[in-house]
Amino acid sequence: MQRIAVDMDEVIADALGELLARYNRDHGTALTKTDIAGKWLWQALPPGGQRQIDAYLQDDRFFEDLPVVPGSQEILRRCSERYEIFIATAAMAFPNSFGSKFRWLRRHFSFLKPHNFVFCGDKGILRADYLIDDMPYNLDSFRGEGILFTAPHNVNDSRYRRANTWQDIAEIFL
Ligand SMILES: [Mg+2]
Repeated sequence: MQRIAVDMDEVIADALGELLARYNRDHGTALTKTDIAGKWLWQALPPGGQRQIDAYLQDDRFFEDLPVVPGSQEILRRCSERYEIFIATAAMAFPNSFGSKFRWLRRHFSFLKPHNFVFCGDKGILRADYLIDDMPYNLDSFRGEGILFTAPHNVNDSRYRRANTWQDIAEIFL
């Protein structure tokens, strides 16, 4: 069986949506993902925005209740019948996220074995045939084929095969 490694934030968990929701709530703004196309979130915020984002991410609860990216559960479940699926999340920047992320995966992706959850730093260490990730730098160091999952910050990167939605992933793998 071929192996597919799948990133978590912005691929199966909508962390950016939650960051925007919290920022808008606290600042009375109405920023959307469309507003930040081609930028990192902090680049679209006034000075001090990066500190605020970091504070949200350091909150133990942040990763506990993130929305699931539409289609990811059903399509990964179908993929898991034909491929070995690993969830590979770079969690070293936020070590307090481990517990929340693990519980989130058990809750929303209960058809995957916990042994297939990989909490890693540099994703270059992964040995899989494919990596689905929104961060181009993770695909740069990956040895297999990288698939860039669309997020506002990567819309101008054309170096990798792209998936805009989980329907696109289904068309590649199913
Ligand atoms: Mg990600």
